[in-house]
Amino acid sequence: MTQLNPSKDHPAHEIPSDFDVIIVGGGISGSWMADELTRAGRRCLLLEAGKHYPDDAYPHEEIDANSELYWSGGIEFNSTADIGMLRPKVVGGGSIVNQALVDRFDDIAFESWRNRSGISFLSVPEMSHWYDQAESQMSIQKIPAHVRNGNAKIFEEGFRKNGYQCAPLRRAQKDCRYEEGNDCIECLAGCRLQSKQSTPWTTLKRAFETGLLTLLPEFEVQKISESSQEVRVSGKSVSGMKREFKSRKVVLASGAIGNSKLLLSSGYNSQIPFLGHGFYTHPQYMNLAEYSFEVNAHKSAFQAFKSDDSGFRSAGFKLENVFAPPVGIAMLLPGVGRSHMESMRKITRYACIEVAVRDTNPGRIRIKGDRVVVEKSLNAEDIKRKNAGLEAVRKIFNSTGAKTIIPGNVGIGLHLMGGCAIGNDPKNSVVNPNFKIHGTKNIFAADSSIFPDAPGINPSLTIMALTLRAAQEILSS
Ligand SMILES: Cc1cc2nc3c(=O)[nH]c(=O)nc-3n(C[C@H](O)[C@H](O)[C@H](O)COP(=O)(O)OP(=O)(O)OC[C@H]3O[C@@H](n4cnc5c(N)ncnc54)[C@H](O)[C@@H]3O)c2cc1C
Repeated sequence: MTQLNPSKDHPAHEIPSDFDVIIVGGGISGSWMADELTRAGRRCLLLEAGKHYPDDAYPHEEIDANSELYWSGGIEFNSTADIGMLRPKVVGGGSIVNQALVDRFDDIAFESWRNRSGISFLSVPEMSHWYDQAESQMSIQKIPAHVRNGNAKIFEEGFRKNGYQCAPLRRAQKDCRYEEGNDCIECLAGCRLQSKQSTPWTTLKRAFETGLLTLLPEFEVQKISESSQEVRVSGKSVSGMKREFKSRKVVLASGAIGNSKLLLSSGYNSQIPFLGHGFYTHPQYMNLAEYSFEVNAHKSAFQAFKSDDSGFRSAGFKLENVFAPPVGIAMLLPGVGRSHMESMRKITRYACIEVAVRDTNPGRIRIKGDRVVVEKSLNAEDIKRKNAGLEAVRKIFNSTGAKTIIPGNVGIGLHLMGGCAIGNDPKNSVVNPNFKIHGTKNIFAADSSIFPDAPGINPSLTIMALTLRAAQEILSS
C-alpha cells in the first residue's frame, strides 16, 4: 500500500489502482471526508487537480497566487462576463485561499432549503450536532477589538450612526501573532503561520497520520462510471499521464462547478435532468471610499465585522468590511494610465465595504466540449437586493466623512454553490437525502455543489457539517 508522505508526493504511476474509497477534489469537503473515512479505517485515494504545497512554499506575490491557486489562472467569468468567479485549485481548496469566516446557518436559510429539497434534517436543531462536531475540530476565534484597523472602525462607526447592527466576525484561526505585525490579507495566498485552519494542517494532517490516505495532486479527474461491483475514475496528471482507479465508493468533492462538469462529462445528464441547474454565487460588490486620513485597510485583521442586521437579512444582502491586495484593488478602481496610477497612490486612504447578495436567480452549468459554460445573471429581485445594499454602504461612508465613493460594478462570486442540489425528488435535485447521486449505488457528494439555493451566509462551516453527516451515511451504507 502506498502511504502519502506529505513532503514527497507520489507520481501517478506509483499509486495502486484499487481503494476502498476515492475522493475527487481535495478542498474543504474532500479533506474533511478523507479525515472521517480514514479514521474509520477506510483506505482512501484523494485526487486533486491543484498543487500540493509544502507549508512554507505558497506563492508570495499576489499575481503568482492568483495564477497558481485558482482554475484558469485566476478569475473565470459567466457567459455574459458580468460576474467573475474565483474557483480554488490547490490541495486544501478554498481553505487555502479563503478568509476562513465560519457561520452557522439560521432558520431563514434552512427553511428555504427544506422547502426546495423536502428534506427535514436541514434545520437548525437537526444540524446543530454536526455544527458542534465541526467546530470542535478546529480553533475558532472572534477577531479581538485591539486588532481592528481603520476600515473596521469606519464600518462600526457608520453602522452605529445609521442605527444598523453589526457583529465581530468568527474566524477559523489559532494564533495570527498580530503583535508581530502580521497582516491576515497575506494568507489569502496560503497562511504561512499555520494559524488559519486550512485543511493541510488540520483534517488532512490527521488523515495522513492514519497511514490510510494516498494523495495524488495535479491530477484532474475527467470521467467516472459505475458497474454493479465498483466505480471507475479516470483522468490525467499534469504531465499528461492517464490513469484509471477503482473503488467500491466514490465521493465527489470537486465543488459546484467541478462536480457538475464531471457528472455532465460522464453522461449523467441523461438520467439526472436537474444536473447543472440551480447554481448560485452570492455575487459580491466591493465599494471603495476615499478618506482624508490613512485608513490602512490592509493591515492586521483586515476583516473584523459583518452586518448582523435583521433588516438587511430580510432585504437579502449582507455587508462585510473587506479589502483586497493591490492587484485586486487596481481592478476595482476606474480610470486608465496616469489617472489610475494616481488613484492607486491613495490605496492606504481607501475604506472598503462589500455587499454580498443572497441571489435568487438560479444559474446553469453546462459543458461545451472540454469547457464549462456558466449561465448566471441577476434578476430584478437580485438587482433590488444589490441596490439596497449599495444604499446602506453609501449612508455608512457619507456619515463617516468619506470624500468620494467608488461603487463596485463587477460582481465577484466567491461562494460557488449548487449544480447538484440535494433533495427528495429526482426531478428537481441530483443528490438524495443519503448524499448519494440519484440512480447510482455508490457515488456520493456533500460539498458546495449540493446546496439547494443561496443561503446568504458564509458556506464553509455548513459544508464541513454536511460532510461529517455524509461520512456517517457512507460508512454505514
Ligand atoms: C477568496 C475567497 C474567500 C472566501 N472566504 C470565505 C469565508 O470567509 N467563509 C466561507 O464560508 N467561505 C468562503 N469562501 C468560499 C469557500 O471557500 C467555498 O465555499 C468552499 O471552499 C467550497 O468548498 P468545497 O469543498 O465545495 O470546494 P473547494 O474547497 O473549492 O474544493 C474543491 C477542490 O476540487 C478540486 N477539483 C475540481 N475539479 C476537479 C477534478 N476534475 N479533478 C480533481 N480535482 C478537482 C479543485 O481544484 C478544488 O481544490 C471564500 C472563497 C474564496 C475564493
